[in-house]
Amino acid sequence: PPATGAIGGAHLDHEQRAAVHRGGGPTLVVAGPGSGKTRVITERIARLLREGTPPDRIACMTFTRRAAGSMAERVERLVPGRRHQPWITTFHSVALRILRQEADSIEGLTRSFSIYDGAAQARVIRKALSACGLEVRLHPAHDVLDRIQRARRAENPATHPLGPYTEVAQLYEEHLAKANAVDFDGLLIHSARLLAREAEVRERWAGRFEHLLIDEFQDTNEVQLRLASLLGSVHGNVFAVGDPDQSIYAWRGATPDVMLRFQALFEGCATIKLQHNYRSSANILEAADALMAEHQKLPRRLLPTRESGEAILSMALKDAHHEARAIGKVIQNLKTDGQSLSGIGVLYRTHMQQRAIESLFARWKIAFHVVGATEFLERREIQDLLAYLRLIDNPRDEDAFWRAIQAPKRGVGELSAKRLQAVVDEANMDVFWKDRTTLPEAIQSTRVTGGFKGRTREGLESFSRLLEDLAPLASETAARALRAIIDALEPLGWIDAMPGGEGRGDRRSSLEELLSAADDFHERYPDDGISGFLGDVAIVRDLEPDADGEPHRDARAAARDAVQLMTLHAAKGLEFKTVFITGLEEELLPHLRALHVPENGELEEESDEIAEERRLFFVGLTRAKDQVFLTRARSRVMYGNARPSRTSRFHHELPTDLVDILDPEHLDALAIEKDAPPGAGFAVGDAVSHGHYGPGRVVAFAGRDFDARVLVHFEDHGVKELFLQHTSLRRE
Ligand code: ATP
Ligand code: MG
Repeated sequence: PPATGAIGGAHLDHEQRAAVHRGGGPTLVVAGPGSGKTRVITERIARLLREGTPPDRIACMTFTRRAAGSMAERVERLVPGRRHQPWITTFHSVALRILRQEADSIEGLTRSFSIYDGAAQARVIRKALSACGLEVRLHPAHDVLDRIQRARRAENPATHPLGPYTEVAQLYEEHLAKANAVDFDGLLIHSARLLAREAEVRERWAGRFEHLLIDEFQDTNEVQLRLASLLGSVHGNVFAVGDPDQSIYAWRGATPDVMLRFQALFEGCATIKLQHNYRSSANILEAADALMAEHQKLPRRLLPTRESGEAILSMALKDAHHEARAIGKVIQNLKTDGQSLSGIGVLYRTHMQQRAIESLFARWKIAFHVVGATEFLERREIQDLLAYLRLIDNPRDEDAFWRAIQAPKRGVGELSAKRLQAVVDEANMDVFWKDRTTLPEAIQSTRVTGGFKGRTREGLESFSRLLEDLAPLASETAARALRAIIDALEPLGWIDAMPGGEGRGDRRSSLEELLSAADDFHERYPDDGISGFLGDVAIVRDLEPDADGEPHRDARAAARDAVQLMTLHAAKGLEFKTVFITGLEEELLPHLRALHVPENGELEEESDEIAEERRLFFVGLTRAKDQVFLTRARSRVMYGNARPSRTSRFHHELPTDLVDILDPEHLDALAIEKDAPPGAGFAVGDAVSHGHYGPGRVVAFAGRDFDARVLVHFEDHGVKELFLQHTSLRRE
């Protein structure tokens, strides 16, 4: 491998060096996977720091918090012992920070604005739909939302006419403004608009960042691009790296021609290409290249720096459970061979595929960590608590109000809720957002509660008293406020009243977990109050589907040796020694969603959607350093029905000489251990017989102690795995 010059002991090749040492000015590094783009960014930050650039004059943006975290670690290792670190973070965190500080310059917003997540957004859309007389059943909230968001992101919304949803979109925006809330996209949109509009604000922020660096540039959407150009508008030192062949977020507004737009946006931009792949074995690289050969955005081939290595192994299993078992078996083998579990990534196209794998790993005691697991935050008790916290922080948050008033139930049903909302909306008819009566204020007044009778009235009054008691918590830390809320809710039978099979202990332990997250947060950001914590939580969970796990959980899992489970989207930028790509089936990879689009029969080009699925598979393959396993199920349960599946078209396109088909029947015989554990009484090659399976021959051993197993190839039954302790196996 070509290597010139050393930084921090590691060698950079010629092009990498040029990128790291290039002076200021707009720079675009375009190169394939594993070519060291992320490394160039971290080395460049390290160089700037060493040369005396103050850390707070550097901002680096990437796609997920996990990626940001590992880059920050890399920089810390390169330039250790600094008190202040540069700001390495996500676009959304940058936007959130700007908005929190500048909220007062935006009509309708205060600094403690709420962040609406996908569920809250969908609730608002549904309300707006029914207010417009559109049937919710015929207009799925998520589709409507998707359309509205596309229009909103566009620089010129006229290019995305909303048709029947024009009014829905208006009502949606109004609701957010009224609730002092911003949705996830809104973080970016509001901050970009603000910077574009207010020269003073723009110059302040852009002046601060002498150097702006952006990783995974191919997946930035129009708004992010605008934000980047605004933040770079004073110094112009914008350094972006990306790979158009790894663009996998077009469906969320990433513009595939973003590379060209960068060149258009930043005049005199220099382009640097990296040539070598340092990650993957030559075989893996060749297979990945073959997949893209006729589909590349920018024609180029990466030169391998490593040996050919192992062939890609492919297995077809009966169904998803057998698929999970096969993966589990291979992983046990790898472990026995001394591979560390954290070097193994199991990737899937949809979250739905995760369950079978996860439950098998749990049963077989294979340590794993799910990246992007936000189920914890979706839990009912957590959502309830967060609703109270949001409401204390931002009393205008109507979505939180309606959630909190139901936790526990207080006799305020749907009808009374509608009435109350109508009364308040009516009273606020002509009032500017900031001067409106909030729902918590409204129910303090007997003129409002007096309109209700019996249990409902009592419910409203007691809820109002509770909110008054909790209101002073607004100036507390999130951790303390959460404890006080729990103390206030417990006597009301909040947890006890919850339906569902889970035990109370389970719910309590998830509360504990939220509290410890809040404590962690307070420790890390002692100056940030409740808004800060809520922003953190929102950013963690709404990056779906590339969401990162909760930060404290991530830290815990990173400490132990665990297999990493995640979607293909979430795997972007990561690397593993061994990668499993599961569900290589039509309708999964490529996903059904991409197949709905009619194919251009006579034109020979594939649809944009299929092309994006292809790139997704390409991203998956190129995560691997040494070994790739492809698995698929012959029959899969989709949307409730078990259906036979067809092998993915992408699988067929891999060069056959690079892929070995593995018969799952022989999986057990895959050299697990040839040495028998002490006292086994058998050796490999022994002829044996079994009461049920009949005659066979010992092929291998696995596990230790209680878990010790013997693998026997039976003449009539194929390979079976038997526990040594319990087996009735005899030597012939
Ligand atoms: P992706 O497109 O997948 O994000 P990337 O271009 O960002 O990939 P990196 O993650 O920066 O690539 O680097 C890939 C691997 O190659 C890393 O393990 C990195 O440490 C290693 N690497 C990068 N440059 C060199 C080099 N010059 N010599 C040896 N190893 C290198
Ligand atoms: Mg990278």
